[in-house]
Amino acid sequence: NFEEEYSLHTNPQDIGNGEELPEDPIQDHRPRLLIMGQRRSGKSSIQKVVFHKMPANETLFLEATNKIVKEDITSFIDFQVWDFPGQINYFDAPYDANMIFGDYGALIFVIDAQDDYIEALNRLHHTVTRAYKVNPDLSFEVFIHKVDALSDEYKIDTQRDIQQRITDELADHDLEHVHLNFYLTSIYDHSIFEAFSKVIQKLIPQLPTLENLLNILCANSGIEKAFLFDVNSKIYIATDSSPVDMQSYEICSDMIDAKSHFQLLALILIKHLYSRTNSYRDESYDDPSPIDTNGCSGNYETANEASSLIKLNNGTILCLRGVNRFLALVCLLRADNFEKHGLIDYNFQCFKEAIAEVFELKRRNAERAKHERMGLIENVDDSIGG
Ligand code: GDP
Repeated sequence: NFEEEYSLHTNPQDIGNGEELPEDPIQDHRPRLLIMGQRRSGKSSIQKVVFHKMPANETLFLEATNKIVKEDITSFIDFQVWDFPGQINYFDAPYDANMIFGDYGALIFVIDAQDDYIEALNRLHHTVTRAYKVNPDLSFEVFIHKVDALSDEYKIDTQRDIQQRITDELADHDLEHVHLNFYLTSIYDHSIFEAFSKVIQKLIPQLPTLENLLNILCANSGIEKAFLFDVNSKIYIATDSSPVDMQSYEICSDMIDAKSHFQLLALILIKHLYSRTNSYRDESYDDPSPIDTNGCSGNYETANEASSLIKLNNGTILCLRGVNRFLALVCLLRADNFEKHGLIDYNFQCFKEAIAEVFELKRRNAERAKHERMGLIENVDDSIGG
């Protein structure tokens, strides 16, 4: 089942109060994304749109968040999203602030830019001050949200005003060294994916390696811009170091969405499942037959070599390649550079192998860490028992 197997979401849980928070140190040893903000600021909508592919206009019918919702997301990197209702004070009993804020991760604070945000800023200040005391390594990310209804000029003014007020407030409390990042976001365009991409990239320890690999690939293949996307959420986890212009990002991100590529993604999954179970082969999926959809052409070879091309009418080629079960590479290059596609294919193959090594290393490290922790726990048990 494509939806089921390909879903990033494995374990949504509702958590009523602090006492019920999970305590398994092995389960929970992964980066944590905490999404906080006032009631109706848009927290649940953001999560649904980014991680569950909910169309933005359907969020109109979402019920307000009134308990902590924790969700494990398993992808190229495992992390947790905790959605917090706005009205609760997590620094008071029965909540355990050390447990909520103590882990490696990011705190995303959502502010409704269409509403009066003074109260939200008080709350943000309170949250940052307290959370920083618990965990100075937490990264603080402020989403100035619902900006779709604001003019460009008003957006900039709002961001400046919010940034100024919160910076002054922190400085008044001798916390000017606490760094906050600000993003203008809306679920009605790409901005929410772009913001999430940037937040999540900070939590990926392999990011410099991935960027380096992308730089090498681009430099040696005449590629102008390359993004490595998580195919399910449209979050890009890395890009080469040339500047990101919004238009290239949007076009590449739409490539992931394009209906014609649903089949491609399904194929990647099916191939992956077949290679995992090794139970049988279905010849129809091995057929490298080209597809044509609205001027798109491409061919499916094997799962990991699945590729697709779109030639834009400005002479640019948009190229998508499946990297592994979770990741796809989307590149922009000039059509004349694509003439050397044999070289590009070869370079891409090397790139894919390098990515596999990076994540294999990650898997092995995670396993080693898990065993070490289990060893520690066993030792503790031994010493208690003895
Ligand atoms: P929560 O209580 O913080 O979880 O807020 P919800 O996610 O329930 O969102 C409250 C309302 O804001 C819903 O009606 C959403 O449709 C709306 N909303 C969320 N994000 C946006 C956005 O980016 N733009 C606009 N215009 N409305 C949004």
